Amino acid sequence: MSFAPIPKTGIDPGAARLSDYGRARQDFTWAKARALLDGLPGGALNIAHEAIDRHLATPRAEKLALRFIAKNDSVEDFTYRQLAQQTARFANLLRRLGVQRADRVFTLLGRQPALYVAALGTLKAGAVFSPLFSAFGPEPVVARMGKGDGRVLVTTEAFYIRKVAPVRDRLPGLKHVLLVGGRTAKAPPDALDFDAELAASAVDFETVPTRPEDMALLHFTSGTTGKPKGAVHVHEAVVAHNVTGQFALDLHPDDVFWCTADPGWVTGTSYGIIAPLTNGATMIVDEAEFDAERWFRILQEQKVSVWYTAPTAIRMLMKLGVEPIKHYDLSRLRFMASVGEPLNPEAVVWSVKAFGRPFHDNWWQTETGGIMIANYLTMEIRPGSMGKPLPGVEAAVVSKTADGRVEPIAEAGAVGELALRPGWPSMFRAYLDEPERYNKCFADGWYLTGDLAQRDADGYFWFVGRADDVIKSAGHLIGPFEVESALMEHAAVAESAVIGTPDPVAGEIVKAFVVLKAGREPSEALRKDILGHARLRLGPAVSPREIVFHTSLPRTRSGKIMRRLLKARELGLPEGDLSTLESDSR
Ligand code: AMP
Repeated sequence: MSFAPIPKTGIDPGAARLSDYGRARQDFTWAKARALLDGLPGGALNIAHEAIDRHLATPRAEKLALRFIAKNDSVEDFTYRQLAQQTARFANLLRRLGVQRADRVFTLLGRQPALYVAALGTLKAGAVFSPLFSAFGPEPVVARMGKGDGRVLVTTEAFYIRKVAPVRDRLPGLKHVLLVGGRTAKAPPDALDFDAELAASAVDFETVPTRPEDMALLHFTSGTTGKPKGAVHVHEAVVAHNVTGQFALDLHPDDVFWCTADPGWVTGTSYGIIAPLTNGATMIVDEAEFDAERWFRILQEQKVSVWYTAPTAIRMLMKLGVEPIKHYDLSRLRFMASVGEPLNPEAVVWSVKAFGRPFHDNWWQTETGGIMIANYLTMEIRPGSMGKPLPGVEAAVVSKTADGRVEPIAEAGAVGELALRPGWPSMFRAYLDEPERYNKCFADGWYLTGDLAQRDADGYFWFVGRADDVIKSAGHLIGPFEVESALMEHAAVAESAVIGTPDPVAGEIVKAFVVLKAGREPSEALRKDILGHARLRLGPAVSPREIVFHTSLPRTRSGKIMRRLLKARELGLPEGDLSTLESDSR
């Protein structure tokens, strides 16, 4: 908490979606948030209707809903009406294939229009949408599709051959494969041509009047600390997607919104598809992976006004310094937010220097389905804090009492588990077929998030670490985030991950894995210098005893550092489920 607060400046509170936090919290009810949406006759509610078809009766019908930028820079545009037609075609196609309500439709696609059409068309048809990261290999695919009982898979021929064909005999429930981008003789005989089938389908479809509690989305969590689970979300979740998009991202209909997350991760669905569309904004989708120059160009050329990204990308931009940013006109960019991992205070302060405005960190997880705690536009930012609970969200730091009860800790600054009062619409309704695992997440009227946090006297929440990643050293509870943030303040450090390793005296001691900035070479002198800096910043009880240099850190596909993997390797323990591992450490 050593960084100075960043005051709210230059914002017209009248134009902000959340300008009077206290009042909004007091007045807010989820019923009022529900009333912002249309609904369907008879109390039905369908995400696809709220995201697309609702706009057709308004001038937004002809507005740009989705701009897709291919790797080769070619652009494909969809107005709300065109998106309505394409998704209707897909829903008709599913109906033709005999897909029933609640059947599961999986995608294994890169970020391309078919993925967005399939997602929303599936929901229109009353079926359940489950996106897979396109980089998954056969085992993660079969594990998720098997568990989720996938009936339909939308993929490409190349992905099918590499990732599905080897495991197809283990997927007896998979009845239909739709291949995007055409098919050759190498495709299985029963696979259908997605584009041809879509073209042959009618552009009208009456959206299935799903009940608010009907399953809509199935998200397999990124599993930074364990085996992936299937989190079940229902159509009612759209109430939260919509209103949290307003509160936490300040989405307005005239915004050009870019969420850089892949829909294979919950962020890329809740905020990379649903929230921008329910709010009538224009959303940008880029097929390519991170590339700083490309990203600045997209921000400039597409006149992005609201940008939602993740700490990994922000840290990569930081490595390049502020200079490259100066070459772009980013004057349309008015709000920047970050999610997925703790955003180091250093990164927030840097963003003010680089962009003239801070990144606004917000916190949520697959299970919460939507943003719960946020630095909203009109608040004073305390760098390193996740912000405050959104209206409608009751959050607390809790501990277990001696008799095993879960109770909020009143004292400011105390570390405990972050808990939420159940009842928000996008809360997961189950872990698919794992009721015990689900029930374990709830106690004494709280949902327990598995994260440790602190709440300060002014109600700001501060992330400490995943409960499983926290280090216990000589009686101190050490949050990896605090140590990693201090390491990042050193001029040579680009990023770091810390774990606890066993120590006969202290119980555990802190070990740090450090990636250096471009142009910095590992050396004994630098190691000592970083150790010395950490010791000064953190004190001897908390600072790392050991530092090793890596050129990269192991991450999940959603960009989270896998500390458990570093630890397993360190201790020679089984590495566990690695299906979500994207890049490995060296
Ligand atoms: P996932 O369900 O894969 O999105 O992972 C959710 C987890 O990511 C949370 O429980 C946190 O541990 C972490 N996380 C997400 N956002 C933040 C944030 N803003 N600050 C700190 N940790 C975060």
